[in-house]
Order: sequence, then structure tokens, then C-alpha cells
Amino acid sequence: MEQETKELRRVGLKVTHPRMRILQIFDEEGVQHLTAEDVYKKLLAHQEDIGLATVYRVLTQFEAAGIIVKHNFEGGQAVYELDRGKHHDHMIDVDSGKVIEFVSEEIERLQHEIATRHGYVIEDHSLVLYVRPKHHSRKS
Ligand SMILES: [Zn+2]
Repeated sequence: MEQETKELRRVGLKVTHPRMRILQIFDEEGVQHLTAEDVYKKLLAHQEDIGLATVYRVLTQFEAAGIIVKHNFEGGQAVYELDRGKHHDHMIDVDSGKVIEFVSEEIERLQHEIATRHGYVIEDHSLVLYVRPKHHSRKS
């Protein structure tokens, strides 16, 4: 609770109940990538009467304040995650929509090499792999 209050104050946002609760949901253990609807459903599960429109508004404010990052992955709704300041790339399971994070030193290095070869430095990048579980047989 105190942690969230500090975080909101740090980025200059007034501490309101919806902001606190939504930030808490992202701070929950194991929670990483959520759609606005996921957040809304988790609030409902906690008996919180916070509407979807408010969830969207708060998420937009958080994004503008740099607390969370919004990803527009293909074929799905926007996914939000806390900005922990650590670079990582994503894999999306196209069957379940599950988001998997990964970091590859080798890929990072190669990207810099390629940019350099073309006379550029990388400002930013995002890499998304759309994947399907390997054990899935395609027969039937
Ligand atoms: Zn992520």
C-alpha cells in the first residue's frame, strides 16, 4: 500500500482509490502482462466497483507517467505491464494469448551489429515472436 502511494507521488499523480488498486494489481506476485479487461476482472474479483472506462483512463495516465508500458501485439488487445526499466523481448502464444518474456544477449548483440553495419545506432527496439506450443500436432 505504502509502496504504491510513494510510486504515485513520485510520478506526480494524485493518490486516488482506483489508481492505488490498479497499481496494486500490477504489483501482485507473478502478474506481468495484463489487458485492460484482465485488470477490470481482477478488480471485480476483489469486490472493487471500478468501471472499465476508469480502468482505461487510469492505464492511459500510468502510461503517460511512465509507470507502465503498453504493447500492441498483433491479433489481440493492448497488453500493459509495469515499466521495471529492464529491457526484454516478448513471445506470444497464438493459441492462448499468453505472453512470455525473454532476453537474449546474442540477439541484442546481433541487432547492434546490424545497425552499426548500416551506419546507425539503435534508439529502441522491440522484438515479438508469435509462437505455438511445439507438442501441438497439426493433424485432425
Ligand atoms: Zn514484458
